[in-house]
Amino acid sequence: MAILEVSNVIKQYKQYDEIVTAVNRVSLKVEDGEFIAIMGPSGSGKSTLLHICAGLDRPNSGSVRIRGNDLTDMSPDELSRFRGIYVGFIFQKHNLIPQFTALENILIPTVMCNKPDFSYEEHLKKLISALDIGDRLHHLPSELSGGQQQRVAIARALINRPQVLFADEPTGNLDRENADEVLRLLLYTKELIGQTLIMVTHDMSVAEHADKIYKMEAGNLYLFRDEHGYRRNSYEEEAERAKW
Ligand code: ADP
Ligand code: MG
Repeated sequence: MAILEVSNVIKQYKQYDEIVTAVNRVSLKVEDGEFIAIMGPSGSGKSTLLHICAGLDRPNSGSVRIRGNDLTDMSPDELSRFRGIYVGFIFQKHNLIPQFTALENILIPTVMCNKPDFSYEEHLKKLISALDIGDRLHHLPSELSGGQQQRVAIARALINRPQVLFADEPTGNLDRENADEVLRLLLYTKELIGQTLIMVTHDMSVAEHADKIYKMEAGNLYLFRDEHGYRRNSYEEEAERAKW
């Protein structure tokens, strides 16, 4: 069974008198353990799509299934519980809680959602060592560098061992060196935990590590580079090919 199955998702916003279609009938199937990159210009709907896939936002129509569970059928309580168990999310700007130490931030998901039959202590040790944040755990986010903040945010996103990790431009706020390090750590923790990774990025050198690269153009999603390296140059070209 696919880990993520998005079908015919539409999301529209009303801006003054105009209706903006941020996501236009998007369908997408992601298999277990895949690394998917999503690229595309600013305003093309990448964040909106990612939030909908992760259950942080709801579509106007269409469905989103994670492991066969339709997120659009769930009540807000069911959805947040489901997210806590199955989903991790990393934002462009770490979104750590400023009054909490690094360790407290990492542990928030374990308090919010007590995942049954899962003791996180061993896993926490592994993450701390993999992400090299052992000496920063009792510091506040403001006392950490940008790269360290993002590494703490990765640990928080992975502490419940989610089956799918979404990342919205996780290296977008970092310089080249820190961006490379965060990418390396995401790939390393992906090996460690084996989760599926769906990442929005502007950076081709980051996207090149993915199994498949999708692009978004004005709310439309198309496969830009498949797992065999075959490329399409536009949404129209992909739609044309899909007819065959
Ligand atoms: P991207 O992440 O590719 O830059 P977004 O998903 O953030 O794009 O935005 C897609 C479109 O939807 C843009 O036109 C944006 O202005 C609009 N949009 C996004 N969020 C909202 C919102 N909460 N209210 C109104 N319009 C929004
Ligand atoms: Mg965005």
